[in-house]
Amino acid sequence: MQRRSFLKNAAVGATVSAVAMPAFAQTQPTVNWRLASSFPKSLDVLFGAADTFSKRVASLTGGKFNIRVFAGGEIIPALQVVDAVQAGTVEMGHTAGYYYFGKDPAFCFDTALPFGLTSRQQTAWLMSGGGMALMRDFFKDYGIVNFMGGNTGTQMGGWFRKEIKTVKDLQGLKMRIAGMAGRVMGKLGVVPQQVAGADVYPALEKGTIDAAEWVGPYDDEKLGFNRVAPFYYAPGWWEPSAQLSFYVGIKEWEKLPKEYQSALEVATYEAHTGMQAEYDARNPQALARLLKAGVKLRTFSAPIMEAAFNAATQTYNEEAAKNPKFKKIYEPWKAYRQNVNQWFSVGEAPIQNFMLR
Ligand code: CA
Repeated sequence: MQRRSFLKNAAVGATVSAVAMPAFAQTQPTVNWRLASSFPKSLDVLFGAADTFSKRVASLTGGKFNIRVFAGGEIIPALQVVDAVQAGTVEMGHTAGYYYFGKDPAFCFDTALPFGLTSRQQTAWLMSGGGMALMRDFFKDYGIVNFMGGNTGTQMGGWFRKEIKTVKDLQGLKMRIAGMAGRVMGKLGVVPQQVAGADVYPALEKGTIDAAEWVGPYDDEKLGFNRVAPFYYAPGWWEPSAQLSFYVGIKEWEKLPKEYQSALEVATYEAHTGMQAEYDARNPQALARLLKAGVKLRTFSAPIMEAAFNAATQTYNEEAAKNPKFKKIYEPWKAYRQNVNQWFSVGEAPIQNFMLR
């Protein structure tokens, strides 16, 4: 519905600009915005999406709408982007909703939930499955208009110093993992640890922690975890995909000329699609290099996956019982997940399973 009206607007815009482009460029105001990213420049795919987005917005508006991108921590602490947009310190941000789990676990629906949606399913939920209306309603309370801003695809289960064969092996395991995933892991006996990115390697090396999750082969390789924790597990069942988002202050959004709003929106779609493509192109090469370097690839056993799935469901039911905002999104989300997986099991899974045999 929303996409259809967007396409209609875009078509109208194209007709007008073909005739009246010089007038458009002269009469439109110059707008300068700041975008705070949560990501360091070293995570080039995550950070790069905001750069791609900002360049496209400038080119679509004849250089009149400029959005300057700042890396995590440059002007705003990396994990306070929502607060900064809400307070109007910056006009917009690029971040992951689940970093704000502590404000409300419902933020996770905008990024990832254990045993949640894959990248394609998440995009479909937001664009055509009713998800965007639910999330826009949720973000309104934070003075934010949300847009999709990339996806990592299915993440890896992370790096372990020792092999994990049974559910019992998770007992007392100190793992760097946060948010909803940490809460689910806690039910399995794991002791979740909050460790900042730069401190993960030394903590793994010293054995202060036994395991750490990060992203996937391309990003993990750069941090060299394989040298201190040789067992590399799949899948990251707590992130079947992880979506990044652009958060724009509602007041600033409403002040924009309609053409700038369209430019901004269409540029978020480009950044969104581009990030998944980058990861899908780079991860296989990085994985091949890691395997060559002696990484021991493992998959979580079926009993571990089953126990984790049950722990996740229990966690969601507990949260829904005490948090009406979570419940309001969770119930239709859960119905959508079941429905979309029924289709994927018929349409996608048979060909995937055959090709991956
Ligand atoms: Ca992760």
